[in-house]
Amino acid sequence: MRKLFLITTTALLFGASLISCSKQSEETKFNYNVDKFADLQILRYQVPGFEELSLNQKLYIYYLTEAAQEGRDILFDQNGKYNLAIRRTLEAVYNNYNGDKENADYKEFVVYLKRVWFSNGIHHHYATDKFVPGFSQEFFAEQVKAVDPAQLPVREGSSVDELIAELTPVIFDKEVMPKRVNLAAGEDLVQTSAGNYYDGVTQKEAEDFYAKMRKPNDNQPISYGLNSRLVKRDGKIYEEVYKIGGRYTKALERIVYWLELAKDVAENDEQRNVIDLLIEFNKTGDLKTFDEYAVAWVQELGGNVDFVCGFTEVYGDPLGLKASWEASINFKNIEASARTETISANAQWFEDNSPVDPRFKKETVKGVTAKVITVAMLGGDCYPSTPIGINLPNADWIRRDYGSKSVTIENITYAYDQAALGNGFKEEFVIDEATREIMNKYGFVSDNLHTDLHECLGHGSGKLLPGVDSDALKSYASTLEETRADLFAMYYMSDPKIMELGLLPDKEAYKANYYSYIMNGLMTQLTRIELGNDIEESHMRNRQLIAKWCLENGAADNVISIEKIDGKSYVKINDYDKLRGLFGKLLAEIQRIKSEGDYEAGKALVEKYAVKVDLELHKEVLERYKALNLAPYKGFVNPKFSLVEDAEGNIVDVEVSYNEGYAEQMLRYAKDYSALDSYND
Ligand code: ZN
Repeated sequence: MRKLFLITTTALLFGASLISCSKQSEETKFNYNVDKFADLQILRYQVPGFEELSLNQKLYIYYLTEAAQEGRDILFDQNGKYNLAIRRTLEAVYNNYNGDKENADYKEFVVYLKRVWFSNGIHHHYATDKFVPGFSQEFFAEQVKAVDPAQLPVREGSSVDELIAELTPVIFDKEVMPKRVNLAAGEDLVQTSAGNYYDGVTQKEAEDFYAKMRKPNDNQPISYGLNSRLVKRDGKIYEEVYKIGGRYTKALERIVYWLELAKDVAENDEQRNVIDLLIEFNKTGDLKTFDEYAVAWVQELGGNVDFVCGFTEVYGDPLGLKASWEASINFKNIEASARTETISANAQWFEDNSPVDPRFKKETVKGVTAKVITVAMLGGDCYPSTPIGINLPNADWIRRDYGSKSVTIENITYAYDQAALGNGFKEEFVIDEATREIMNKYGFVSDNLHTDLHECLGHGSGKLLPGVDSDALKSYASTLEETRADLFAMYYMSDPKIMELGLLPDKEAYKANYYSYIMNGLMTQLTRIELGNDIEESHMRNRQLIAKWCLENGAADNVISIEKIDGKSYVKINDYDKLRGLFGKLLAEIQRIKSEGDYEAGKALVEKYAVKVDLELHKEVLERYKALNLAPYKGFVNPKFSLVEDAEGNIVDVEVSYNEGYAEQMLRYAKDYSALDSYND
């Protein structure tokens, strides 16, 4: 683990974000919002700290970002075998079109193309249903015919008319390839899923094929099937392996080219070993090498720069075997990671001073340190829709024997936070300007601190009494556990110790987190529930449990109230100090329930406070939210990196810029990072 110096002044701790914020307001304000269409919003993110890296680190990142971009076509083909041909046809029309841009068909055409870019194919990125175009088949045929045939993905020996005939049902017919990943029980999941991981085989044939490969009682099982398409030709079933010389070779050759360059400028020998193994895996497709790579990767902790760049997650395969291609190139956010180090280093103090009964406290407690990273490039299945945290590798035996890397991506969460400013949400639901101001100022830092305290300390605190069954709370366990970790975080958020350790920039900052938590728990999280339904998900249950319990148990002291203003309901926190007291009191009780395994008390709390929804309030919240017209799904354009050379042609710097639009970036990727053929059968 890289040694970190502890930082105890807020100026240093928040240095990075303060500097970039003031820079923004002095120069031009950074624009986080890029585009909005269908149910999607496109944002952009910054890469703070990149300029301060050494030239070698910048180059290392640069070469990795090139590899990350080269994998994009692989994912398109994995998501459906017509996706590349469709995308290229649509792009050709888009580039060629010189008709009326206000034409309704054309406008719908643009929305459709933007959705195809976003989903890396013709199915919704999240729901995996095929989305239906809003333009006519006639418009499509007419526009394709207007394009120079050389610009179109016409199969060899075929015609433009045949191209149109082949693609039209795939694009327009709801019955053709309706779902990318079908998980409906009772159906042949392989044959009814449009993803391109299998061809001509049934679910049973695929399952049998891989069952035969697995050895019984294998302590370190290979992830069979991870990097291939399984096909049946002339009655024979075999794998088309993703490797150089095999399936996707043209893209993988380029990826390996960039990985070789990256290797030369890696930060240390461990990283060079990781890249060597990844290159070897791309060359041979040998899954044993993949495991060696994963083991080396999870143990590489010495460098600042880290990456994922290959076949990783298996959500796209209904059988959960085959991995989609993804990339995330990132480096450590040292300031933010210092925050989690500080918290962990003081774990014993927090345990000793918590409001729970001393019988339930740990004598010795060790905090968990989570790494905070800054992402520099998203690729494949992480682009444009991206996770905000990563926990890898996936193989259970590697996690068991070597652990995993868990990271949060703070420049992405920061971009979400900044983009939400002024979208009307807080204006609609937060009670007054003063509260909004505190939330705008401190919401991001206090929410991050909440997460850190929850993850690094909350879950690890406390102990069971001897003889208590760890499964005693049964189906209520996860809600109560999340409740406990949240309460631990919030109880301490307003403690003077937090200011003393330099973890918040202002002694009022915690209020942003308290208010948004209670508002969310009592009201705004209901936007994610259908009218008439109960709350099922355990994090949502835990938030309502805390908020409702505090509302009710603080009623005599008027700690929290729900105010009606012009017919609308608002949460009001009247006494923040007493609210902290309530958090402490509930924490003590939840810890008692866990430590004693008091199932009945746990059940009573959850059923009374966490499950049922006030129908009237729910209806009101849904109506107010709908009127805001916010896009439920978001994604990002990447920054653009370019090499800077001096007069002699030596590379002297790597520059990052943020001015690319959504369509502009997608068209550039199609031009510069698109090695695969349109048809890969
Ligand atoms: Zn948790």
